[in-house]
Amino acid sequence: MARYTDSVCRLCRREGTKLFLKGEKCFSPKCAVGKRPTPPGQHGRARQRKMSEYGTQLREKQKARRAYGLLEAQFRRTYDRATAMKGVTGENLLQLLERRLDNVVFRAGFAPSRPAARQLVNHGHFLVNGHKVDIPSYTVDADDVITVRTRSKESPHFKVAREGTARILPKWLTVNADELTARVAALPAREDIDFTLQENMIVEFYSR
Ligand code: SF4
Repeated sequence: MARYTDSVCRLCRREGTKLFLKGEKCFSPKCAVGKRPTPPGQHGRARQRKMSEYGTQLREKQKARRAYGLLEAQFRRTYDRATAMKGVTGENLLQLLERRLDNVVFRAGFAPSRPAARQLVNHGHFLVNGHKVDIPSYTVDADDVITVRTRSKESPHFKVAREGTARILPKWLTVNADELTARVAALPAREDIDFTLQENMIVEFYSR
């Protein structure tokens, strides 16, 4: 499957915001968005001109897709699921993205970034309600319990998480850093999702 292999910091610069794809570097002065806040490439500055309505919708879609690390087809399938749910489509979409297992692992502080979380899930380090799940797109539900597999607990990957130095937790997750366990206390509401995104623009983009 085709994957983006260039510098991920270019993606943040293109979207003009931090997408938190590099772990600790994202929180340091070395972050490329802070150092070079223009779009990447020779004509980066020229791209800063006023955008059309279509351009704005496209950028919001790309921002969400890149932050959660999805290919276009995966993102489109998630959007289609969101349209089939009751409620506001844009909020459903964001909720489905947040409920992905790789995102939950990242939000719980068990991985420094979503790409790292995806890899840890792929490598089979996590159990959901006691069963091994190695599918990053797995959708968690309220009351699900995500645990690091016993034999993975001593792995250096989880050292930071065990020390309890993880980032601020979202309200919808409760985490036991000693046990490396997270519980989905409730499904995330829009106000619980700390991501500056105009999700209605994504809906307009796909409704064209
Ligand atoms: Fe984005 Fe992190 Fe790179 Fe900053 S350090 S540009 S937030 S990936």
